Amino acid sequence: MKRHVDAALAHARAAAATPPADAVVDDAVARLSHVARDALTGVLNGTGILLHTNLGRAPLAREAIDAIATVAGGASNLEYDLERGVRGSRYDRLAALLREGTGAEASLVVNNCAAAVLLALDTFARGAGGAPREVIVARNALIEIGGGFRLPDVLARSGAVMVEVGTTNKVRAEDYARALSPRTGLLLRVHPSNFRIAGFTEDVDVAALARLGRSAGVPVVEDLGSGALCDLREYGLPRERTVQDAVADGVDAVAFSGDKLLGGPQAGIVVGRTAAIARMRANPLLRALRVGAPTLAALAATLALHGRRESRERIPFYRMLAVPLDALRARASALAAQVPRLDIVARDVVGYAGGGTLPLAEIASVAAFWRPRDDVDAAAARLRRAVRPVVARGEDDGIAIDLRTIAPDDDGDLVRALELAG
Ligand SMILES: *Cc1c(COP(=O)(O)O)cnc(C)c1O
Repeated sequence: MKRHVDAALAHARAAAATPPADAVVDDAVARLSHVARDALTGVLNGTGILLHTNLGRAPLAREAIDAIATVAGGASNLEYDLERGVRGSRYDRLAALLREGTGAEASLVVNNCAAAVLLALDTFARGAGGAPREVIVARNALIEIGGGFRLPDVLARSGAVMVEVGTTNKVRAEDYARALSPRTGLLLRVHPSNFRIAGFTEDVDVAALARLGRSAGVPVVEDLGSGALCDLREYGLPRERTVQDAVADGVDAVAFSGDKLLGGPQAGIVVGRTAAIARMRANPLLRALRVGAPTLAALAATLALHGRRESRERIPFYRMLAVPLDALRARASALAAQVPRLDIVARDVVGYAGGGTLPLAEIASVAAFWRPRDDVDAAAARLRRAVRPVVARGEDDGIAIDLRTIAPDDDGDLVRALELAG
């Protein structure tokens, strides 16, 4: 604090003409708030994008937060087998839950899905002595996930030799079969989670691909990304391929994110056959990708909530999806009454799942909308400077704060931000 006041004073003393006292105070406040805003802080997500990667993706369920609190403040059995009183494996802590939830024999948890893909490539795409092996991948799968993670580049870095098959719009298991060679280390399938190819298209039948891998003695890995465990049609969304689908299709390993459609903490989960998971667990690279007890605790609590629809809706992502439009309209009216100066109205808007999932699925929503006294960008900037910053949607004609992505419990903080927003 003092440091920033001193800096503002020094700046004033160095100026050719002594600035007025108000300007020095403003400068000190700006220096302070700039520092405060660079530090990690909670914000209100008024964008209508449920899993906003820039805003931390999936908010956690109360149960997951409590689970973190339980293990984070003291010792835990992270790598300790309580039954036998000997060293255990952190990768066993979620084994039963993941077996039950996905139907897979074995599992592994790493830092994110990108790490899971990296580990799979490093494990299966190197021969004995580290000689590179071939990874067969479809041309419709050479995706960029975001943040510069491009599958062809990751493949190149892993030292694997990429063998592309099929075309942009059509890929079949026979395309993979024709490319098999004694050098093949892996058959990779990537789920098109963040883009869609429409029209004259055909995607590989993953069950046929799994059979091909089995008969050739080559592992088949699916990068599923989104990680749905339930049928999203229950929430008015298109059906998304689930983890259970991938397991039932018989792939050796399927990798997915913890903080996308699972609604848990940032993590990468790999489930699959015991032999394939054992090879990944034995890879020394795993040590650099591992997660700690808080992540495992939050993940376990989130997985436990997935069992039934009622408990699943305790996970914020599913709770947000399930909120009826009338409830959002009522909140918009209440905000309008609490901040009459802004002339807030309820406006119908469209939101998205986000997080690189369901890219075309529109989610009907309601925003608190008003026309600011000056320009939209300035009003949006004032919202971002609130004690609890609000990230709004700038529309052509005003500011819209989508209420689906803000928990009703946070409406008090939202009112305080709106009072400053003008
Ligand atoms: C999102 C995604 C990833 C990366 O997941 P992170 O958990 O963000 O690392 C990898 N593959 C696919 C197909 C994805 O959709």
